[in-house]
Amino acid sequence: MTTPHCTAVIDLGALAENVSTLVKRIDGPELMAIVKADAYGHGLIPCARAAIAGGATWLATALLSEAIALREAGIREPVLAWLYTADDRFMECISRDIDIAVNSIGSLRAISSAAYNVNRRARVHIKVDTGLSRNGVTADDLDALIVELGKHSETIEVVGVMSHFAYADEPTNPTIAKQIAVFTESVDKLTAAGFELQVRHLSNSAATLGLPNTYFNLVRPGVALYGVSPGEQVGTPAEHMLKPVMTLRSSVVLLKNVPSDTGVSYAHQYHTSSDTRLALIPVGYADGIPRAASNKGPVLLNGRTFTIAGRVCMDQFVLDVGDLDVSVGDEVVLFGDPSRGEPSAEDWGSAAGTIGYEIITRIGPRVVREYINSPF
Ligand SMILES: *Cc1c(COP(=O)(O)O)cnc(C)c1O
Repeated sequence: MTTPHCTAVIDLGALAENVSTLVKRIDGPELMAIVKADAYGHGLIPCARAAIAGGATWLATALLSEAIALREAGIREPVLAWLYTADDRFMECISRDIDIAVNSIGSLRAISSAAYNVNRRARVHIKVDTGLSRNGVTADDLDALIVELGKHSETIEVVGVMSHFAYADEPTNPTIAKQIAVFTESVDKLTAAGFELQVRHLSNSAATLGLPNTYFNLVRPGVALYGVSPGEQVGTPAEHMLKPVMTLRSSVVLLKNVPSDTGVSYAHQYHTSSDTRLALIPVGYADGIPRAASNKGPVLLNGRTFTIAGRVCMDQFVLDVGDLDVSVGDEVVLFGDPSRGEPSAEDWGSAAGTIGYEIITRIGPRVVREYINSPF
């Protein structure tokens, strides 16, 4: 077997364990595993199966197409999707028993007419905007939506209500209590209107880890399942007994000796400070390594952590390895599990002026995913 230029090793056992750790911790409410964006870059289908093996009783995606892909792979658990265009694949979702979030009278009507066309009731969750001001119906517009819902009882089955936090990663932020209050009011309004809400859900990863009063009867974590922190104030994954699922590996493909004061990579943004050896690593921004991490990104090689020397290019970057004992073919780890001495996705987030979420989700299609420790 040949060695790929870059491999994302996906520890499905760690993912299942993370889910099971969270299921124990929430102690009662159900867990809906968020597998949007190709399971945060880890691979939709294997991760969905691992999450189910770990105890997730629901799955969710952003896009309808992602939810349909779950069904096409034979996954039977309840699935919710909440983001769609005006003429999206509603009929296919309803036929496949995929729950859809309703965010307006307009989307309710589109889903209702799709349900009529496939001669089946659509299962919907009312998505309430309790203060994020992104997706969802505002509390002010909820009354009119409830009136409209009354006209669609033959085509629409309301099974849930949901909302999303603006600031769950700042556990003392005053918007949290406000959003909980608006959400509770919305639940009450829908209940008073006669809807039997099977599930009421508000908690993303940060809330699942830090705000037990937001659980209602289902939590909706994403990034935490993959062992990445939702925010500094929430604590490191290790503090929550969560293991990083993705390890990003590459290897040294060229070594060369250069003198002191050699300019390295485009625009010579790094200069060697002594006679030294440069190691070439065949991975770059086309693979999802942020160019913003030029001269900043940490890389583990033979037990030592180096900082990238100079610009990250499209397909490659350079390390200044000094007198390190290193050979062509030696493995490097860009990020993985800090308990093994590896940099974390969060470290890369800080190096690139972003967050761990963006690091893991942008790992490109050219990077081979290698699945290990499958629990199914
Ligand atoms: C992405 C997303 C989540 C999961 O968020 P994390 O911060 O990754 O836990 C939950 N709910 C909604 C609506 C989302 O868009």
